[in-house]
Amino acid sequence: MEIKIRNVSMTYPNGKLALKNLNLSLKSPSLIGLLGPNGAGKSTLMKLLVASLMPTEGSILVDGRPLAKTEKELKSRLGYLPQDFGLFDELTVIQFLDYMAALKGLRDSKDAVRKAIREVNLEEKAKAKIRTLSGGQRQRVGIAQALLGKPSFLIFDEPTVGLDPEERIHFRNLFSRTAQDRLVLLSTHIIEDIQSVCDQIVVINHGNILFAGTPGQLIRSAEGHVGVFWEKDAFEEQGLTITARVNAGEGIRCRAVADNLPAYAREEEPTLEDAYLYLISREAVQ
Ligand code: ADP
Repeated sequence: MEIKIRNVSMTYPNGKLALKNLNLSLKSPSLIGLLGPNGAGKSTLMKLLVASLMPTEGSILVDGRPLAKTEKELKSRLGYLPQDFGLFDELTVIQFLDYMAALKGLRDSKDAVRKAIREVNLEEKAKAKIRTLSGGQRQRVGIAQALLGKPSFLIFDEPTVGLDPEERIHFRNLFSRTAQDRLVLLSTHIIEDIQSVCDQIVVINHGNILFAGTPGQLIRSAEGHVGVFWEKDAFEEQGLTITARVNAGEGIRCRAVADNLPAYAREEEPTLEDAYLYLISREAVQ
């Protein structure tokens, strides 16, 4: 499956220009991380990809055909977990997934529901009412409904929000298994989630794509722009974005990204987080 976003802009009815002339190509199999600050345009992009919004300009092609025309067919190949996904608390996990399978028009729904429950490791809670589940288990039900019917394109909008570190690791494993033969787009604020599972990253801010490529390419783009120094040695902080400030006993050790590192800073290898913050900070000064 290949999705091509061509010159896509999205202006909301109130005049807000949320996406500006986007061009992007997504090809399976791949696990793509979508990163960007709040308000960057991530949810808008995902809504366009599931055709719940139509772009005000440009087009989206699915395997060469316009999304607007293939919308119905695409829906059966699509799994979507929106940010504000509501569950029916009084239904059991099986009842809820049965209902979702019926909405998706799945033929062999019993089998599909059983498979989806197995994929998210919720077998022992299959007959439990949704209101009795923990946050992580509820999120798993949300992911199970997205997996129903083996869609070839999956979109998860901030699926790990509110999960503890152990639950997040479960999800990362689930995402990378899921993406083995599919296209998975994962929006998150959590850089470690992206670092550990994504083979591609798209960074957006203010409705523009700032970067599209591999995590390694993003890291390399920040080489020479990350440094550490003691706060007491810093006599000016102009042009620096401090990314960490740690009280190390003998003083406060700072880590920063900058276009030009000051002479008092010792250069360090960038992490993915450094590289992301460098990219966003550069956009802010432009
Ligand atoms: P993100 O998901 O990255 O936080 P969004 O796509 O939700 O960003 O929002 C992008 C921009 O569009 C923001 O400035 C937001 O306020 C605006 N926006 C989002 N939804 C609407 C809407 N329904 N009407 C008007 N503006 C909106």
